[in-house]
Amino acid sequence: MGAIPENAVILFNGKDLSNWHTRSGDPAGWDVTDGVITAGGGAGDIVSDQKFTDFTLHIELMEPDMPEASGQGKGNSGVYLQGRYEVQVLDSYGIEIPGKGDCGAIYDQFAPLVNACKPPLEWQIYDIAFRAARLDDDGNVIDQARVTMLQNDILIHNNIELLGVTGGAMDDKVGEPGPILLQDHGNPVKYRNIWILPLPLKGSDKY
Ligand code: MG
Repeated sequence: MGAIPENAVILFNGKDLSNWHTRSGDPAGWDVTDGVITAGGGAGDIVSDQKFTDFTLHIELMEPDMPEASGQGKGNSGVYLQGRYEVQVLDSYGIEIPGKGDCGAIYDQFAPLVNACKPPLEWQIYDIAFRAARLDDDGNVIDQARVTMLQNDILIHNNIELLGVTGGAMDDKVGEPGPILLQDHGNPVKYRNIWILPLPLKGSDKY
């Protein structure tokens, strides 16, 4: 993806986490160095102050090199859309058939279509189009949230309809706007260049 769109919200300014907080509302305590934030310092998950409904999200991440680790212990973090739906972050480089817990998966719901992962210590890109759940006037979900997603410019989710919130969701109030949450799973996963473009819920009726 090229330049940052004019109307994008810069979620991480490269300098500090003043517009983020912890799940309990305390200041976000992740390390910030040279325009990069790092999970795993024991500070817990961080949550954007701002909330969103439909959007596209751009976020860059780097896996740590943990050759002795395996499975869910290998570079685990996560990007929670609306604080409710985890896009897994993990070192799944080289796995032939990635599963529902691997990098880029909607955690425990949908495996990525293909393995688009780069090796640890290389920057990777998630570009995620998110369409929030739609509810009727009685509050019943009539359309679940949907995700289309590129990892490193390769399509890994093609307009999938999610099954509901994933484990670790902040809440299940899917009809309300929600923040972006980055998971601290104890591993030093790095992030940079985080921006989000809020979208209207539909285009006009004009021909
Ligand atoms: Mg995770």
